[in-house]
Formats: sequence, structure tokens, C-alpha cells
Amino acid sequence: MTPEEFRTAAHEIVDWIADRRIHIEQLPVRPNLEPGDVIASFPASLPESPAAAADVFQDFKVLIAPATTEVQHPMHFGWFPSNASLASILGDFASSGLGSLGISWESSPALTEVEEVVVDWMRQLTGLSDQWKGVIQDTASTACLVAMLAARERATEHSQTTGGLVGFERRLCVYTTNEAHSSVRKAALLAGYGADDIRLVDVDPWTRDMLPHHLEKLIAADVVAGSIPAIVVASVGSTGATAFDPVDRIVEIAGPRKTWVHVDAAMAGAAMVLPEERHRFEGIEGADSISWNPHKWFGTILDCSLLYLRDPDHLVRVMSTNPSFLRSTAGGDATQYRDWGIPLGRRFRALKLLFQLRIDGIENIQRRLRRDLENARWLATQFNALPNWKVVAPVRLQTVCVRHWPVGPDGSRIDDPEQVDRHTREWVRRINISGEAFLSPAQLDGAWIARISVGVEATERHHLEHLIALIRRAAEDRGAAA
Ligand SMILES: *Cc1c(COP(=O)(O)O)cnc(C)c1O
Repeated sequence: MTPEEFRTAAHEIVDWIADRRIHIEQLPVRPNLEPGDVIASFPASLPESPAAAADVFQDFKVLIAPATTEVQHPMHFGWFPSNASLASILGDFASSGLGSLGISWESSPALTEVEEVVVDWMRQLTGLSDQWKGVIQDTASTACLVAMLAARERATEHSQTTGGLVGFERRLCVYTTNEAHSSVRKAALLAGYGADDIRLVDVDPWTRDMLPHHLEKLIAADVVAGSIPAIVVASVGSTGATAFDPVDRIVEIAGPRKTWVHVDAAMAGAAMVLPEERHRFEGIEGADSISWNPHKWFGTILDCSLLYLRDPDHLVRVMSTNPSFLRSTAGGDATQYRDWGIPLGRRFRALKLLFQLRIDGIENIQRRLRRDLENARWLATQFNALPNWKVVAPVRLQTVCVRHWPVGPDGSRIDDPEQVDRHTREWVRRINISGEAFLSPAQLDGAWIARISVGVEATERHHLEHLIALIRRAAEDRGAAA
């Protein structure tokens, strides 16, 4: 493809993207597809001759684009907001256009230093002190794995430089709760901790926040048994019911034992840009690492996860490679981000944040987040006022968890947990297959609920009013109850 051919084709794609955003409400939120449907629309092998860009683009429009769940749709309330602000998309284009190679400072000084600038801007915007140094990781899952590895090496006094974990004779314990994201357990297992040594700390039955006195007890018992308490992962805004583990108390308990504290604020971290919400993050200054995803509610297009460390030198010791062909002639002062994580080659991810911050502006982003918080509180009030409906977890931020109790033929409320579970899954399924809205069924204390995650950039109050009507129609219909 020549640059001139690229110019023509790229303009077409840009127009298509802009039009799609304008008309997104006319699309179903979710495609009605079975696994394998997309594969079946492709030839089994690559056609031999090259195609015109226009033909490939046509296939994209017809076969590919309609086969995605529209997470930018204002009626999308599933999982979590995965906003892709158009300004951040421009930054992503710019990054692709540069085609930079991020393997060292020297391979693209701007790639490294713009990341340093933007990550520090974000630190200031989220009210973190200047003791923190940050890096952009692809996802919070990776950030958690990096924290697990750093904690492992701290707990074993760099066993990697001697016999590794195999040669280390004491057990290493991980502490988190049942509310933690699945990526936490995965990271622990990948980092060499054993499933037998992952401790699930009790939570408060209503808020689902970690109970610090139970953490204290578990750690004490492990120490008596000769194990090392290596890391506590605090969910600060859990994905399910927005639990906030009390980091101030966790840090007090973990600190004296040099237990690493990793704060997983993947979803909720965006709220730190709102000064009035920062009280929820009390104590995080005492943690060892904090990660959160601008690529969720904040609106930076995937993938962009921030990881802040109190002692980056320790991480660099754990991750450092430095074979001679990569040694920078620029000397020791430049940041070498390859030593702050797992991959060698890095994309220019800072550009999407830079473009978003400068074009959208922090005030507009803050206004949008506040709108969503207000919308979620309003939604909760509406459900609590309806007969046989209940909000079943505290609404700390933008997620509202609801359950509906069906009514039997004689008009009396059905309380049998199995019937209520079946009913919940059925009415959520009906909404989701309709394509009119999308929400996630989830389990809370072993019972099914519907999670309504507010916060898509395009979602306004009238969309929530429409959602309530859809939900009531799907759930309150007597025929569906049995
Ligand atoms: C979404 C989420 C994750 C995983 O984020 P990825 O960036 O997709 O890996 C981890 N923890 C919490 C609390 C989350 O909400």
C-alpha cells in the first residue's frame, strides 16, 4: 500500500467511525450470534491474490463490525464501562502512525518520556503524592502479576538470583477476599504461589469489604506455622459489588512484616480524579503498588492500565534484562520501561492518554464521572421504591446490583431461592437477547443478581428511564415468573 492509497482508505475508515458513533443507538447492543458464526463467514484459507482496500473494508463492515457487542452503546450496562473516547482513539491512531519501537529509551526517547510525563500528570490528578513512580501496563491483570512477582522476590530476598522458588524452603502466602477479581488468583498462581497458600479473608456481609481483624488472625497463624506473608491484594472498588477493602488498616497490619500491599483499583481508580471521592481510597499512600485502568470508566481506549510503585528500583532489580545489544548509549539516567514489566517491546500507549487529557480536558471527564455517580444513585432510589425490587449491595460508585422477587399466580411473593435465581437469570437473558440493552447477571453470596454498571460515555438519564421500563417489562411479567 502506498501512502496515497493509505490516505484515501484511512479517510474512509475515519468517516465510518464518526458515523457509527453518531448512529450507535440504532444498532443492537449485542449481536445475536452462536459461537462459530463469524468463523463460518470466512474462507478457510487466505485467498491467493491481494484484495483492494475497499473490498476488505466492505467485508469489515458487513462481517466483522456487526459481530461485536457494542460497549460504546448508551444501553450497555454489562461488566464495566469500557469507554473509548474519540480523543483517545486519535492518540491511538497517532501511535500506530508513528510505528515506534519501544524497547529502550534510545529506540524512541519520546515513547519513554511522554509516558513519564503523562503517568505523572495522572498521579497528580488522582491525588497521589510524589513518592509514586508509574508505568503503563497493558492491563490490570498484568499489573497484578508484576506486583506478585515483585512481592515474591522481596519475600524471598531475591531467590531468583539463587535457587529460585524451588530452592526456597518456606511457603509464601497471599491474602485477598472472595470479592477479588479472578485475575488476582491467576496472577498468584502464575507467579509461583500455591493455591493452598491463597488465603481468602472474611468480608463484611453487606459491604463485602475485607475484615482487617480476620486478616490479622490469618497472618499471625501463618507466621506461627513458619510461612511468609508475602502479599495482600486489596480490592479497592471490586468489580462485582464495589467492595472497598480498608487499605489504611491493611497497611497497618502488613507493614511491620514487610508484606507487600497491592491495591487493585482497576475499575474504581477513575473516581480518584474526583476529590470528593478520595476518602474511599484512604490509606493507599502506605501501599507498595497501586493499579487502575484508564481503559475502563475513565475513557481511554483499551489497553491502558496504570501501575504505580513506591520502590521502582526493587521492581527493576526483579525485571532487569540488559543484554549488551540493548544497552543504551544514553547512560544510566534514562528510564528503561522494559525493566518495569514483562514485555520488551512496548507500544506508544501514552499518546492515547495524552490526546484524551488534552482534548477532552480533565474538567469534562470529571463532569462525566459525576453525572454517572448521580445517575447510579438515582437508579438505586428508583429500584428501592418499587415493590418486590431491592438494591442488594451498597452503591459506592456507578454499579447498582438489583434483585427482583417474582409473584406467584395468587399474587404472593415467591421467596424460594432457587426459583428467584431461575427468574433472575431468565429476565436478564431476555433483555440481553433482545439487543435493546445489555446487563450482566452475577452471583452475590451464592445467589443470582443483575448488575447494572452505569458509565458509558453516551449514557444519559433518559437511557436509564428506558432501562427501568425494559427491566420491569422483562421481570414483572407474570408468565415469566414460574
Ligand atoms: C476489570 C478488572 C480487572 C481486570 O482488568 P484487565 O485490565 O482487563 O486485566 C482487575 N481487577 C478489577 C477490580 C477489575 O474491575
